[in-house]
Amino acid sequence: MNSLDELRALSRPRKGPPCGMAAVHLQGDDWETLQVGLADPAITAKALMAWLAKRGFTVSFWTIARHRRGECACKS
Ligand SMILES: [Zn+2]
Repeated sequence: MNSLDELRALSRPRKGPPCGMAAVHLQGDDWETLQVGLADPAITAKALMAWLAKRGFTVSFWTIARHRRGECACKS
């Protein structure tokens, strides 16, 4: 790897364990609502956590926040 590749590699988030959001499988309206919710800064991670819990998914707000920032293993 050349030095630019090295610099780019260091800029990428470190790969951690699989993201808790990767285990969330929703369909139809719920899936679309989740995408809109994740993209909307007015919707808090805690609100998303409660919303997901009602659908049977236990994801911490910390995991949701990290996923939103793209610092999880979902992003390559
Ligand atoms: Zn993620």
